[in-house]
Amino acid sequence: MTAQIIDGKQVAADMRAELKEEVAKLKEQGIVPGLGVILVGEDPASKSYVTAKERTCEDIGIYSDDNRLPEDATQEELMAVVERMNKDPKINGILVQLPLPKHLNEAEVLLAIDPDKDVDGFHPMNVGKMMVGEKAFLPCTPHGVIQLLIRSGVNIEGANVAIVGRSNIVGKPLANMLIQKSKTGNATVTVCHTRTKDLADQTMQADIVIAAAGRPNMVTADMVKEGVVVIDVGVNRVEDATKKSGYRLVGDVDFEAVKEKASLITPVPGGVGPMTITMLMYNTVESAKRAAGLETTN
Ligand code: NDP
Repeated sequence: MTAQIIDGKQVAADMRAELKEEVAKLKEQGIVPGLGVILVGEDPASKSYVTAKERTCEDIGIYSDDNRLPEDATQEELMAVVERMNKDPKINGILVQLPLPKHLNEAEVLLAIDPDKDVDGFHPMNVGKMMVGEKAFLPCTPHGVIQLLIRSGVNIEGANVAIVGRSNIVGKPLANMLIQKSKTGNATVTVCHTRTKDLADQTMQADIVIAAAGRPNMVTADMVKEGVVVIDVGVNRVEDATKKSGYRLVGDVDFEAVKEKASLITPVPGGVGPMTITMLMYNTVESAKRAAGLETTN
């Protein structure tokens, strides 16, 4: 079997088009969703993520409030920006680009964000709500994975899912979402990590394998069963002398070999990556609807 490729760029583009339409309708009612973005320092990757987020806001019609602080900004300066945005009715979502420079206290900043504007879904209040099955902002990458599955026609209900990775931003929230008693959940989930005794034994039993370990090509063809659905969250730089940059991006899955066994598979790049920003925009629009007293999905 050769897998059908899940085109994350296309799914993200479809969702963005839907959001653009929704934002246009909200604007007719005087509602303009707004995202406050905070970037501290000059990290090139962070700068490019923030630029991409701002561009996407513009494309969808979301107002964006761009705040750039110098590398040596103090905790107080950063907290003051968060506080201002917490109070600003034009801002429905606050995004602090991580990682922050080492001298800043990341946990304190994330806790200071108003949970009603926590569009990254990292605030313990939202994590807790998600866990007990209440409406909450869902973390963007795991939610993007679920959207990719649903929009590719994958039946999550009753499926055996193996997730490789248990981080707070991908593995754990994803496992939580997939076990919810809901139409996007009801899966039987196994969460694997570095202490898992026999990883291949777990992945081999899975109808859906989700790799989020940050280890290039660690999921190989002999670790998955025929017809499996594979979602590769990993983004890893590997040296490549043929590239101008000297490297190329690969996922956690040995794509070329695994695609010969899988029924559906995401590539890297072009799979989960484009979904993450899209889900941030989705949360911002949801937040604006919630602030206006309108019905929301999550
Ligand atoms: P972390 O490093 O925080 O977590 C990695 C997890 O994988 C840990 O739980 C670790 O186990 C587990 N792990 C690592 N190696 C192995 C192994 N050999 N066998 C089994 N488990 C293993 O990573 P993140 O969750 O932040 O990110 C994971 C990947 O996803 C990265 O490549 C990252 O770049 C990518 N990513 C992509 C995003 C996107 O938008 N496409 C967004 C976020 C992340 P243990 O807990 O035991 O250490």
